[in-house]
Amino acid sequence: MAPASCALCQNAKAILKRPKTGQQICKDCFFLVFETEVHHTITTADLFKPGDRVAIGASGGKDSTVLAYVMKTLNERYNYGLELYLLSIDEGITGYRDDSLETVKRNQQQYDMPLKILSYEELYGWTMDAIVSEIGKKNNCTFCGVFRRQALDRGASALNVDHIVTGHNADDIAETVLMNIMRGDIARLGRCTLICTQGEDTIKRSKPFKYAYEKEIVMYAYFKKLDYFSTECIYSPDAYRGHARTFLKDLEAARPSAIIDIIHSGEAFEIREDVKATQKQQQTCKRCGYMSSNDLCKACVLLEGLERGMANSVITDRARKNLDAMGPVPDNLRTIPHFRSPLPAVSIQPPPEKLDKSILEFRTGE
Ligand SMILES: [Zn+2]
Ligand SMILES: [Zn+2]
Repeated sequence: MAPASCALCQNAKAILKRPKTGQQICKDCFFLVFETEVHHTITTADLFKPGDRVAIGASGGKDSTVLAYVMKTLNERYNYGLELYLLSIDEGITGYRDDSLETVKRNQQQYDMPLKILSYEELYGWTMDAIVSEIGKKNNCTFCGVFRRQALDRGASALNVDHIVTGHNADDIAETVLMNIMRGDIARLGRCTLICTQGEDTIKRSKPFKYAYEKEIVMYAYFKKLDYFSTECIYSPDAYRGHARTFLKDLEAARPSAIIDIIHSGEAFEIREDVKATQKQQQTCKRCGYMSSNDLCKACVLLEGLERGMANSVITDRARKNLDAMGPVPDNLRTIPHFRSPLPAVSIQPPPEKLDKSILEFRTGE
């Protein structure tokens, strides 16, 4: 049987089956529909305005590498007028993050974007390797997740950017919808499908790949021959998310639209006001100035637990009580540097050459 021609241009030979729609299409049409759908996501949600300084959360993995490439492509094609930066967090995981950061450093050259790397070690005084050797592999993802979230905001604040974009894709979001339903966390269900989140003094965060299928991101990276790092984290993965992921992949195999349908279902839920009200008011951490729903932010509580040698008892809701039972906080306790709130967004941005160069260099001491 002669190879079919592309279902979109009817011209070139179809060489791939598009995971999202099952269409047989050519490579160039695949690149174009993928990019155009992301552009549509961005413009529909009105994510950016000209002059915005945008940090791409870059891990060296496929999602963020494709995101950096596509953001650069769309910024040039459609004149978004954005200043793009790469922002990487070095968790301090030997044999994983050190290698993936080498990839990000090559991306910096390939995409000609300034790169900032912020490490757990400089921010918290602990690498993930050190944390795992202290607490074991069981709860280390809790520490890593809390520390990464705050590190990204702090890195963004140092870059003085208006906005962080992350490589979360449609599969990630559908998984989160399923997990929140299965856990009965309905208040969170309302937020997890939002393309963009912003609190009063938090930096805007968004997910331009919200509707992009993981399989298409992999395919895009493969056909574009992008330079990315594909090893999984060496520490234990989130087991519960793993179940949701397996379930979602089974659904996708039976009906590819399942992923987008789950996201649309999540978006369509109307969360009752009294359920929404169970979300705590945001305030400022009394120790480090980061936003928090309690007196101390989660990172400060986790760090205090590590420093006081009782890390495994601070991952519970009773963390503060457990710490107080140990006696008063030692005077010489290591703490996180005070958080500098991002400046309010202004429409006139300084030209890039006036940037403080020191914040863009690789971290010192290497
Ligand atoms: Zn075509
Ligand atoms: Zn804090």
